[in-house]
This record gives sequence, structure tokens and C-alpha cells, in this order.
Amino acid sequence: LPKNHAQTSSIDFEFDKQHIWHPYTSMTQALPAFGVVSAQGCELTLDDGKVLVDGTSSWWACVHGYSHPAILDTMQQQLGTLSHVMFGGITHQPAIELSKKLVGITSPKLTKVFLADSGSIAVEVALKMALQYWQGRSQSQKQRILTVKCGYHGDTFAAMSVCDPEGGMHTMFGDSVTQHEFVSAPQSRFDEPLLSHDLDEMRAKLISQHSEIAAVIIEPILQGAGGMRFYSPEYLIGLRKLCDEFNVLLILDEIATGFGRTGKLFAYEHAAIDGQCVEADILCLGKALTGGYISLAVTMCSDEVAQGISDSPAGVFMHGPTFMGNPLACAAACASLDLLAQDDWQDQIKQIERQMKIELKGAIDYPEVKDVRVLGAIGVIEMNSTVNTAELQQEFVDLGVWIRPFSNLIYIMPPFVITSAELTKLTSAMKHVAKGIT
Ligand code: PLP
Repeated sequence: LPKNHAQTSSIDFEFDKQHIWHPYTSMTQALPAFGVVSAQGCELTLDDGKVLVDGTSSWWACVHGYSHPAILDTMQQQLGTLSHVMFGGITHQPAIELSKKLVGITSPKLTKVFLADSGSIAVEVALKMALQYWQGRSQSQKQRILTVKCGYHGDTFAAMSVCDPEGGMHTMFGDSVTQHEFVSAPQSRFDEPLLSHDLDEMRAKLISQHSEIAAVIIEPILQGAGGMRFYSPEYLIGLRKLCDEFNVLLILDEIATGFGRTGKLFAYEHAAIDGQCVEADILCLGKALTGGYISLAVTMCSDEVAQGISDSPAGVFMHGPTFMGNPLACAAACASLDLLAQDDWQDQIKQIERQMKIELKGAIDYPEVKDVRVLGAIGVIEMNSTVNTAELQQEFVDLGVWIRPFSNLIYIMPPFVITSAELTKLTSAMKHVAKGIT
């Protein structure tokens, strides 16, 4: 067991280890998990009473912190009224309210809302929409997806098929996930103009294969799990122009970046053409949609995409999960969006960004640190080589913080409501750990 776990813990760690799968773990060589008993604000309380400052927002989701009374109240009320009902042939006000809000805050072209149940499913839905759209436009040969390396879009089969082709999932599942086209990841950094060659490969691929390509999918501005790489908004502008030129749909996957994380409500807002944001034909949102209180994701699309799907031989969009439009999740999302609308999240993010830039800067001088970068409420220390996640996690817990490094990345994306003192605790721990790596 991790050394902070008291033998008297109320959590049955042995059962957990023997029977319960955690993300990306082995069931026979399971690494012990930490037991959390409660969470409040930006703090997680472990079973032994130790309190950790959370640097993860539980994987980008809990932007308002944990146990926020406004979201809890809304969910409790909803639970007592209508916790779930099938969405086939039935509608309800939480779904309508949420969809109204989403249509109102996303770019004007996005008018249709599909309420999915997780981020990966939102991506599946987006890919299916693109393929079915072209069937409806009598171009059913357009069935392949073009994307960039170092991308991450989820763990289900279609989502995996557009993840980084050099990652394990591709090599492991072979032909089932290798039918799509990849070009190099954007090289132009966020704060730099577009490198002149950066879109060349994309253009070349579109010139030769556009008649088979249904859509380009990309994470706007930040490639997350594929390397925490921030790229130039001009890349996105150029990509939109290429998609228009070659008659290919653009799918933006904002599942990690959506709802304020990069300093804009949506990351695509960093990229504007003549004062107008780059517009997706299809947009995927998830994670922070409900403030991290319950699973929900959405795929939004334009009227044109919806019309194409209606014109396809099936005539309807062929997707409809059991928990589609779950009212409890929709109500939580409405409460979370209301908080974003009231709160000064833009100032909060600016303050977090400013502080992280100052506090993390010095890490660049440590021997094994390759790069330090900050955008919005995301702070990254990139190491020269892969770190030992389990070992570092224990070190972070000993330092009183919850940070989960992966690959060669030590990074944080804290709740927006984090205090300056809590943030310093996180950045100090990051630096301490990065400095100790030799
Ligand atoms: N797309 C992006 C950009 C993500 O970061 C993730 C999750 O990390 C997903 C899709 C998949 O979301 P989920 O884990 O909710 O299925």
C-alpha cells in the first residue's frame, strides 16, 4: 500500500487491488490506488485524513472545485423530480435548457446538439456524423478521416483510430484502427506565428486524397494527452481554410479545452479570421461540461451537416445511447454553465496563468527539464525522458498535492477557484519533484 494508508482504513484496498480495474492498469500487477473519502473546494481528503491540493481538476473536469453548493443543490432538486428517463420519443426541460445555453455560447454555425454520455462517445458521434453527412451528399466514397499525429480523442474504437498512430493503442489493435490518414503534428508554438511549412503536409494530403476524406479532426490549440503541446492559432486558421478549399468537414475536439481552460471559453476562440472565430462544422465537448459532477458530453453540428444526415439513405442519425440526455447530467451542466456565466472565470484564469508563469519559470534551469510552458490554467514541465508515474505520485502525495504525471510530463490544470496559496503549493511541488529527477 502507499505509505500514507493507515491499516485501519475504511477502504478495502485489497478488494480494490484484486477486483477493480483503474484507468490504464494491469489487473495482475496492480499498483495501489490512493483512497479518497471526500472532496471540497480544491482539496481531496484521503482515508488517513491527509488533505491534498488538487492539481488535476479530476482530468480537466472539476473547474469549479468539488462539492460546489450551487451544483449540488441543482442536482439534488433534479434527482427528486426526474433523475432519468429515456430520450427516444421523450424530451425534458433540462435537455432543452442545456442545449439553448450551448447554442448560445458556441459559434453561430453550431445549432444542433447531440447529448452523448462521455467524451469518447462524443467523438464517435462526430465521426459518424461526418461519414453519414457525405452519404447524404452522394459522396459516400468520402469515408476516411484525416488528422495530426500526437492527437488524443478517447479510448473507444473510432476515437482510438484517430489517436496518435505511434501510440500503443494503434499498434495493439491493428487493422481495426488503422484506416485513417495522419500528418505531422503542428510545430508552430502557441505564442509564435505559423511556420511557413507547417501546413504543407496537410495540404499535400488533401490535394491527393480529398475525394476520400470526410473530415479533419483536431484538438484546437492544445494537443492534450498526446504531449500537452500548445500550437499556433494561425495553424487552426490555415486548417479551416484548407478544409473549405478541399470540401472536407472540420471536427474540433474541445473535450479537454472547452469551458475556459485555455483562457477563452473555447480554445478555437484564440483563432480568428477577420475578427471571426474559426468555426467547426462539428464540435465535441465534455469533461468540464457538468463541472465534473457527472458524466455528459455533447456533439454539436451545423444545419448543413444535419441536413446532409437527413438526406442520407438512413434518413436519421444512427445513434441513440440508453443514457442519452440524462436529465440529472443536463441539470448539472446547466448549473455549471450558470456558474461560468456569473463567475469571474476570465480573471481567475488570467491570475492563474500569470502566477504559474512566474512560479514555474525557474524550472527550465534544472538538468533534466526540457521545456516549461503555460497557457491559461494549464502548466507543464516537460522532462527529457519518461518519468515513473507511481513513484512521483507518492512523492506528490507526501508533499500534500495531487498531481498525476504521465510520459515525460509533469503538469497541472487546477480548478479555476484555486487560491494563490494553493497554487503555490502545486507549483512548488512540481519544481521540487522536477529538480530531483536526474
Ligand atoms: N478527447 C479529448 C481531447 C480528451 O482529452 C479526452 C479525454 O481525455 C477524450 C476525448 C475522451 O473523453 P472521455 O475520457 O470522457 O471518454
